[in-house]
Amino acid sequence: MAIIGVLALQGDFSRHIGVIEALGSSARAVRTPKEIAELDGLIIPGGESTTIGMLMQRFALLDAVRSAVQRGMALFGTCAGAILMATEISGSDQPRLGLIDMSVERNAYGRQIESFEADIGDEQLLPGSESLTAVFIRAPRITRIGTTVRVLARFESDPVLVQQGHLLAATFHPELTENRSIHAHFLKLSGHV
Ligand code: GLN
Repeated sequence: MAIIGVLALQGDFSRHIGVIEALGSSARAVRTPKEIAELDGLIIPGGESTTIGMLMQRFALLDAVRSAVQRGMALFGTCAGAILMATEISGSDQPRLGLIDMSVERNAYGRQIESFEADIGDEQLLPGSESLTAVFIRAPRITRIGTTVRVLARFESDPVLVQQGHLLAATFHPELTENRSIHAHFLKLSGHV
């Protein structure tokens, strides 16, 4: 069974552990480079990307995650986690992993709409998955993707779920809705059978 970790520095980590458990696997909260070195898959949750990035830098977790990804660990970032995975964050030099070739704009859906739900439709989704309601909370917008990045789902014309090799990023919060297909897909990327 794959060993899955959820980065537990700040933000919405416990619900991700619940979803992985509901899929019949297990996940541990992780906070140190040593714990990350043991994982087959890591989830970086939503929260505040500047805070999570600063803490990751302070505890040497940026390098720990980069080297784990290099040896094949799968990585899934949601919302703030997705921001931290982007190579470019508009107007910001905040600490980041910079692993997915894409540009993001933080809080891009306006202050009035702090959060909203949207149906992100069937046909663009993961193969075999039914349509999915996505919850966006002060969500970033993906404004550019590189040629190695595959779009798995869109909201209107924006990519909202993207994959580059064993790296997965969602600008919304799949841990807040019942559909578990995205976490199931991530378990497969982590080598879970
Ligand atoms: N707006 C947050 C940020 O820029 C992300 C919000 C979230 O993770 N729900 O870090």
